[in-house]
Amino acid sequence: MNKGGVFIVAGPSGSGKDTLFKVLFKKRPDIKFSISSITRAMRVGEVEGEKYNFITREKFEDMLKNDELLEYNVYIGNYYGTPKAPVVAAIEKGEDILIEVDVNGAKSIREKMPEAVSIFIMPPSYKELKRRLSGRGTESEEVIEKRMHESLSEIARATEFDYIVVNDNINEAVDDIIEIIQSSRLMLKRQKNLIDGVLNNVES
Ligand code: 5GP
Repeated sequence: MNKGGVFIVAGPSGSGKDTLFKVLFKKRPDIKFSISSITRAMRVGEVEGEKYNFITREKFEDMLKNDELLEYNVYIGNYYGTPKAPVVAAIEKGEDILIEVDVNGAKSIREKMPEAVSIFIMPPSYKELKRRLSGRGTESEEVIEKRMHESLSEIARATEFDYIVVNDNINEAVDDIIEIIQSSRLMLKRQKNLIDGVLNNVES
């Protein structure tokens, strides 16, 4: 069986990733999502185990010690990490898995898995980024300012990615991601078994 592919998706806070993912996974339930373990407090509307597992710092540090994470980062004082086991399991089952990380996490995964395809989600403009960050109404002015600062430095590192998807129109952005995943499935390295399958059944 051919192995599944890893798709690293990063984009600044305020790029609209959450809405985009909701539409994407509804449309394509065959694409798996890597649930991160994080130590920040749950926001209103977030559900345990949906996008994140909300854990204590102690538990996170245990996971680190036991080498259970593929990558991790500290973002505004909280740990965010990608558990290794579900990613490895998906690849082995031939499933495509999408991993949401920040730009540092993307770099760590690229180093460990050079075959991973990386996608940067770009907000359409500075003005829209600011509107989305302030409009959430779930965070203090200070946190919004910090997120704005982080977001701008992440955008400056979009050059490290294979693809950029502008999230202006949700459905178009979702279709762009699906196309990237579809075309990667057609790459030679994803279909080596197909060649042997045909050559080994040549009739004499
Ligand atoms: P938020 O607090 O807005 O949900 O996420 C803050 C930042 O952490 C975002 O840039 C998000 O993409 C990133 N992030 C989410 N999960 C992970 C993870 O598992 N690892 C890393 N390195 N970053 C993550």
